[in-house]
Amino acid sequence: MNPTRRTFFKTAAGGVIASTLGFDLQPAFAQAAGLKISRTTETRSTCPYCSVSCGVIIHTLGDKAKNVTPQVIHVEGDPDHPINRGTLCPKGSSLHQDILNSRRLTKPQVRRPGSDHWEDIAWDQAYDEIARRVKKTRDETFIEKDPRGRTVNRCEGIAWNGGCTDTNEFNYLVVKTMRSLGLTYIENQARV
Ligand code: SF4
Repeated sequence: MNPTRRTFFKTAAGGVIASTLGFDLQPAFAQAAGLKISRTTETRSTCPYCSVSCGVIIHTLGDKAKNVTPQVIHVEGDPDHPINRGTLCPKGSSLHQDILNSRRLTKPQVRRPGSDHWEDIAWDQAYDEIARRVKKTRDETFIEKDPRGRTVNRCEGIAWNGGCTDTNEFNYLVVKTMRSLGLTYIENQARV
């Protein structure tokens, strides 16, 4: 028999005992999975990507010695979690790449007006440029009184949009800081 790619994966994932290959793949898959996480520390957490909030188990390798940095090697759905019961969508299934991905950006970048590419800049320069633009925009768009003469002290020229991996604590500080600037357009996804 000549299995197609589709039937191969269907067979392997579905756990059909009499596989199209003529032998049982289940023990091999089970053993491979067991080997991969056999010496890991399990940490229960929440997928940060959307507000479904699926439970995940993060497998970390490292003997907890003082000079050893634990390494995340696998993330899977938590079978005991009442929301997802072990399942993860494709985005959640790629969660370990939130930590381990050579293409992940680790320094700030900027695309200048009229430019067609992004360039790396130093953190200090990024802070300076952001602070300067925030001040300039706030100075230009701050509204002290509304059309009926009531004091409003708001800044409608800046909006804040939080990322999905922002924690409650981070968002608490964001709201305090942005409200102190007078921002009214604030959005986040606080739940982790
Ligand atoms: S696994 Fe998918 S559905 Fe679940 S929280 Fe993450 S992104 Fe949302």
